[in-house]
Amino acid sequence: MEKFDVIVVGGGPAGLAVAYPLAKAGVKVAVIERGNFSGSKNVMGGVLYRQPTEEVFGEFWKEAPVERPVIEQNYWVLTKDAALKGGFRSQRFGIEPYNCFTVFRARFDKWMAEKTLQAGALIITETVVEDVLRKDGRICGVRTGRPEGDLACDVVVAADGVNSLLAKDAGLKPDWKANEAAVAVKEIISLPAEEIEKRFGLNPGEGATIELYGDATSCLMGTAFIYTNRDSLSVGVGAVCSDLLEANISPNDMLEHLKAHPAVAPLIAGGEVREYLAHLIPEGGFDKMPPLYTDGMVVVGDAAGMVNSLHREGSNLATTSGKCAAEAILRALEWKDFSAKSLARYEQLLRDSYVLRDMEKYRRAPRFFETHPELFTLYPEIGQYAGEVFLSVDGVSKKQKQWQIIRHVLGRRPIWKLASDAWAAWRGLY
Ligand SMILES: Cc1cc2nc3c(=O)[nH]c(=O)nc-3n(C[C@H](O)[C@H](O)[C@H](O)COP(=O)(O)OP(=O)(O)OC[C@H]3O[C@@H](n4cnc5c(N)ncnc54)[C@H](O)[C@@H]3O)c2cc1C
Repeated sequence: MEKFDVIVVGGGPAGLAVAYPLAKAGVKVAVIERGNFSGSKNVMGGVLYRQPTEEVFGEFWKEAPVERPVIEQNYWVLTKDAALKGGFRSQRFGIEPYNCFTVFRARFDKWMAEKTLQAGALIITETVVEDVLRKDGRICGVRTGRPEGDLACDVVVAADGVNSLLAKDAGLKPDWKANEAAVAVKEIISLPAEEIEKRFGLNPGEGATIELYGDATSCLMGTAFIYTNRDSLSVGVGAVCSDLLEANISPNDMLEHLKAHPAVAPLIAGGEVREYLAHLIPEGGFDKMPPLYTDGMVVVGDAAGMVNSLHREGSNLATTSGKCAAEAILRALEWKDFSAKSLARYEQLLRDSYVLRDMEKYRRAPRFFETHPELFTLYPEIGQYAGEVFLSVDGVSKKQKQWQIIRHVLGRRPIWKLASDAWAAWRGLY
């Protein structure tokens, strides 16, 4: 049986962020990826943050296939026929070293995999890992779907994404429940670059994002997004699986509903759908994260449920967790100690980073959103009413309008409920 120091299962951002620094340090590392290349099976809305990726791959934007640096981020709450809009734009985000970029995973992950290969890692594609191998109770390799495909190693890295078979096989993670994952679908819609810049108010080469809520997700717990690429838009929507099942709505129906909204349709008008993608997103938050290490194995990225949905961050947590895992593994290799005790350094490094701090900060958020469906229905309607009343000039004084709005709000939601919603929001999100 061939033996490696480290076997990384999954060639996404988490797995490659482990393998690249290890390979550069001369460690014998193999990445096993089920797709025919890294990125071929991967889906992301498309916003990739510069700093965590730079920490691993250096000044990647100078050579990697990025689409547009994002200078403007917008947040829209939709009702059937209105949009409450907010946002932030800074030209400083459009100059080096940038804040974040829109990317296509199929191109960007492929680039990261090429760098990892050049650094000396072996990348084995079109190969599915089916199980972990154990010796004396300790994980010591993986079983692949290939004939005579068992591979031995000192440490296995489970970087196999949201449905992590490895974390389950290692007994770290049960199957997820329907309220612990969202299903998201996305279309890539072609449009000429100049048209995108005109519709989004951008200078040549600049990018913008819009996150949408409320009617955008057919009022289910979830979000939708529109991101600008060079000559296309990424348009997608996702909702928690339990909500989709209960409402009996398919993600595709949700996407069509979003695209037909009067605030969205003009942005995509005349565009041609080039690609359609679908994927799961872990939504359980901090409390549903599995143990992050065991004897001979660490779990990184989506496999460990590291997604901060509120800030639509996932790839950055995956990358930073990969970097921390690589650091812990390097020390374990130095000490020749691959026990859980030695690999516990990985969790310590994550605790010292923003990853576990952010996950812990929002630990109550999934429960808050689950128990407050009115955030996606009633509150957007109230916002529309207030906007229409206050912005209409109809001979009614502004003071009277204020009272009209207050009476309307209290008629829809008693004051004690408003106070309890505010308290729950504070506890869930602060
Ligand atoms: C629609 C959508 C929009 C998103 N938008 C954003 C965004 O804008 N910004 C952001 O930061 N995050 C976003 N995310 C989240 C982000 O995509 C993930 O958090 C991130 O990709 C996690 O990286 P990963 O390497 O842990 O997992 P993945 O990217 O899922 O990689 C796992 C890899 O493992 C491989 N694999 C799985 N099982 C096996 C096996 N048994 N054997 C071999 N290989 C295997 C897969 O093929 C895959 O390549 C979004 C996610 C979705 C679904």
